[in-house]
Amino acid sequence: MQKYGGTSVGDADRIRAVADHVARTKKQGDDVVVVVSAMGKTTDSLIRLADDVSKIQPGRELDMLLTAGERISMALLCMALAELGVKATSFTGSQAGIITDSTHTKARIIEIKGDRLKETIKEGSVPVVAGFQGVSLEKDVTTLGRGGSDTTAVALATALGAQACEIYTDVSGVFTADPRVEPNARKLHKISFEEMLEIAASGGKVLALRSVEFARRHKVALHVRSSFTWESGTWIVEEEKGMEEAIVSAVTHDTSEAKITVTKVPDRPGIAAGLFRALADEAINVDMIVQNTSRDGNTDISFTVPKADLDTAVKVAKQVIPTIGGTEVLADPDVARVSLVGAGMRTHPGVTARTFETLASHDINIEMISTSSIRISCMVRAGVVEEAVRALHEEFELS
Ligand code: ASP
Ligand code: MG
Repeated sequence: MQKYGGTSVGDADRIRAVADHVARTKKQGDDVVVVVSAMGKTTDSLIRLADDVSKIQPGRELDMLLTAGERISMALLCMALAELGVKATSFTGSQAGIITDSTHTKARIIEIKGDRLKETIKEGSVPVVAGFQGVSLEKDVTTLGRGGSDTTAVALATALGAQACEIYTDVSGVFTADPRVEPNARKLHKISFEEMLEIAASGGKVLALRSVEFARRHKVALHVRSSFTWESGTWIVEEEKGMEEAIVSAVTHDTSEAKITVTKVPDRPGIAAGLFRALADEAINVDMIVQNTSRDGNTDISFTVPKADLDTAVKVAKQVIPTIGGTEVLADPDVARVSLVGAGMRTHPGVTARTFETLASHDINIEMISTSSIRISCMVRAGVVEEAVRALHEEFELS
């Protein structure tokens, strides 16, 4: 399985370069299935176009629009392959048999009917599949959420029993930090699914979170690598026993979330449930949650949501205030999160203390904290998050 992201197929030359690589793979005797993203920033442009046309964008119609981007790439790549004498056939998500639920703009894959692709492979043709899309049981075209082509690739790799799933992109792998923020960031050669999950969830933009979840569940080894240099990249694999675990593998940051605070809600059973049920029903992903202990029977609840969902989340929170109680809903988009990820944290105490000390020595205030067994995340002011990344990268000697 080879998946090519937007920049990898960004213009005619790039598409020909990708075709050349696919042709070589095929000539080496490997069967290959290709998944493509929309060219360059096509998806962003289409979203902007929709915004210019109308404030009301039914999910079904938005999906119909956005899936057009991947159709362009798949057809052009097949033409480029034809010129190289390689038989190739393009498929929309629907034609490839990717069946999803009906949650437009963030649908989940229910089932993959791989027979048509398998037949195509048997006939010696290379299937080129449009990423990021499927078809619902109601037979409407759906999309899998931004960055969803990775998920398409991993899901197809599973369904077809691919040996490996190569994710070609414009960076050469997964780094210890975003190299644009920390110039001393280093490429990681191999990390575990668990670490990659935490990296993706905390802002490492190389892979979509869902695709990593899928890969871990189905044990599909991923190889993230560059389609510009074609050098070997980062392998994401099952944690191996005896694998020397770095205490900290990477520092990530994320500026895509906003903070919402609901003030003075009653501190009794069912209140948080009422609030987060209402958000869940709108399919809003809540990330960090902080609730203070109450002293007078009331408490503030703060949580983060994707900035794109901020308006909806505020609306929902305001709607439930009359039922759950609470005074005000405050929105704060000016936050950012810095996270440390490393499987070795499980067995090395003190990482949290060192993290806090490092931020304190840079006079950076921590507003929210969340942890897992292999991650520590701190919400800070957006303006200081890059300084926080560099400070932690240095403290944990990641360069
Ligand atoms: N074209 C879609 C996006 O930009 C899907 C993808 O690239 O994975 O989000
Ligand atoms: Mg993309």
